[in-house]
Amino acid sequence: MNTISKLTELFSKFPGIGPRQAKRFVYFLLTRNSSFLEELARLLLELKKEVSTCESCMRFFSNSLHNTKICEICRDPNRNGEMLMIVERDADFENIEKSKIYEGKYFILGGKVPILEKNPENRIRVSQLKERIKDTNIKEVILALSVNPDGENTEKYVRDLLPSSCKITILGRGLSTGIELEYPDSDTLKNAFKNRT
Ligand SMILES: [Zn+2]
Repeated sequence: MNTISKLTELFSKFPGIGPRQAKRFVYFLLTRNSSFLEELARLLLELKKEVSTCESCMRFFSNSLHNTKICEICRDPNRNGEMLMIVERDADFENIEKSKIYEGKYFILGGKVPILEKNPENRIRVSQLKERIKDTNIKEVILALSVNPDGENTEKYVRDLLPSSCKITILGRGLSTGIELEYPDSDTLKNAFKNRT
């Protein structure tokens, strides 16, 4: 297999990218000058070195300046440690952070539990979540999951893992059905958060 085919195959593994788009990426790269390609290659190699997974919330964070295992949000004393918002993916976390509606802490599940999944542990971070919710400061857990059958199934599964001592809320409707939390705009998120039940 030649380099064009190999790269096309790699790009088609990206989320949402089909073979045709993957090939367009390859031809786009071929039109760039070598400094662009060198920069890209350098950043790709650095990505894993510079980005760590936070041991508390499990999100990816840039660890270039501080040699720490805990991200800046989990370390921030001004954030409300009594609230824990559980989201599926880093992109959902980013969108909620961008909307500035929430000042508590997070936990990134790493995915969702499809209906009929026999081993949810293979899909989401069950053991890490159990560890995180041992934190007795947590008074409220907000389940901010996709509004679709798999999201609802995940919600049910996660609820059973949570201690009965904390209040469990879900984001208010108003988020359209089928949507992933990566997409709604700030106003929609703000309403969903305000109307959580
Ligand atoms: Zn963190």
